Amino acid sequence: MKHITATDFYNYTKCKFRVFMDKNADPNTQDKVNYFLELLWKNGQAHEEKAVEYFKTQSGCDFVEVASGNVEDEESLKKAARETFLYMKNGVHYIYQGVLIREGVNSLFAREPMLVGRPDILMRVDGNSPFGKYTYVPVDIKAGKGKDETDYGERLSPSYTAQLNFYALLLEDVLKHAVKEGFIFNVHNQFVKYPLSTNDPKFKDVLEEMKKMIAGDACGREQVISSTCGMCQWQSTCLKKAQETNDLSLLFYLGEKMKFGLYEVEIKNMEELAQADIAKLLLKVQRAKRAGFFYPSVTDELIKSLVTRAQLYLQEKSEDEHEVFIIRKTPDFPKVPKEIHYDIEDDPMGETVYMHGFWIIEEGKKPYYYAIVATRDKTEEEISRELWSFFAANEGVPIYHYSGHEKTTCRKLMDKYKLSSDVFDRVFGKGGTAIDLYDWVVANTDWPLTSYGLKAICKYTGFKWSAEDAGGANSISWYYEYLDGKDEMMEKILTYNKEDCMATAHMKEWLEEHA
Ligand code: SF4
Repeated sequence: MKHITATDFYNYTKCKFRVFMDKNADPNTQDKVNYFLELLWKNGQAHEEKAVEYFKTQSGCDFVEVASGNVEDEESLKKAARETFLYMKNGVHYIYQGVLIREGVNSLFAREPMLVGRPDILMRVDGNSPFGKYTYVPVDIKAGKGKDETDYGERLSPSYTAQLNFYALLLEDVLKHAVKEGFIFNVHNQFVKYPLSTNDPKFKDVLEEMKKMIAGDACGREQVISSTCGMCQWQSTCLKKAQETNDLSLLFYLGEKMKFGLYEVEIKNMEELAQADIAKLLLKVQRAKRAGFFYPSVTDELIKSLVTRAQLYLQEKSEDEHEVFIIRKTPDFPKVPKEIHYDIEDDPMGETVYMHGFWIIEEGKKPYYYAIVATRDKTEEEISRELWSFFAANEGVPIYHYSGHEKTTCRKLMDKYKLSSDVFDRVFGKGGTAIDLYDWVVANTDWPLTSYGLKAICKYTGFKWSAEDAGGANSISWYYEYLDGKDEMMEKILTYNKEDCMATAHMKEWLEEHA
């Protein structure tokens, strides 16, 4: 019998269909773990080891570890749960990998799954519980900030909330009182507080849905192809199914809410969307929006664009030739003697920016590459200062980049190292010289592609990266190998970054030529 775990709650917040796949699909059809996931796991493990040292060495506090046993075996889990209970009864300060369980209510006709939670740390805090004048809160160790970063700033992560809430539910069975908070112990050895509520009706609904999913009922959930799939081992399976059925989510900007919104207005696949009567469709969408489907921000223009994208998708599928696209506006990029194409390499987990690369096109010169790199002898701060000098020396020169990542990252570097805001504003401020090509592409073009990322569009328009394994995750991994002494890795990182900068230049020229 499969269990429901905190990982299921975490995954559910990323993709609702994922839990159904994890519990029901053939594990032999899973993809291999990709580079980036492997890197995340390694990073997570390394941080967890350091964090455990932190808890072990807190003065006046005792620390115990609960042996894992066989996590699939119910008897092992029950034994570990009893051990955890005894540690709590004895008032141990930090219980590492404790086991919390709730057995399902079983009847003659149905058997409920066991709920199994393994918070990284059960931390003793002041309060009242059946054990005395102390109680416990769940703590999970994460190798990041412990919050999500969004375009509007940091926020508590819904995935961590879901995970901690699940621990709280199981902990309440033991403590006999509501557990109102949990913590993420982050990469900076700080506790990030999460308010919890196991009475939240949505949380309860999710739990009930998961129980049904374990029993083989998909509860109407389906694959929704998105960037999340890149981190999921069901990617090939889901993508194959989506391609076979001309799934709506294969279109860019068509996520779960849009897909099921379209289902509501009886558009079930790409063919139906491509052939839709636009006027009638817009009316139906308006009605569905009032009933809570779609996002309120969905505009008529977006719906029209999706119809066009569905037509392009089907056209592309039926032809041997690539390059089906629509450019709705002639680009008016500045005609100047010098332009720069900029791309950053960084490790979001370690929060390190290790490279700023530029492809520079200048009248009368062969285009050339220039990079500012954090080598073993050069810090992130030093290269940030060099970057600011580079920006200052190139005042007035258009700086093309693809996506908001360069701007966000430079702003963070500016805040971190107290760099000149004037320099930043001259590049990224209102009327600054930076041009985000991604914004332009999203606003003015339609493609038969799921992603409008640099790799997806540039590959589609004929640009080739020299390394087959070129990708941001590999670059991070190569950088750590370089830091560990493998000098030859630096060449690979530079080549990868140079080609990303060149791809941005390719994109810009391609748009100008094909508009
Ligand atoms: S591949 Fe994508 S759609 Fe499929 S389960 Fe994973 S995240 Fe969900």
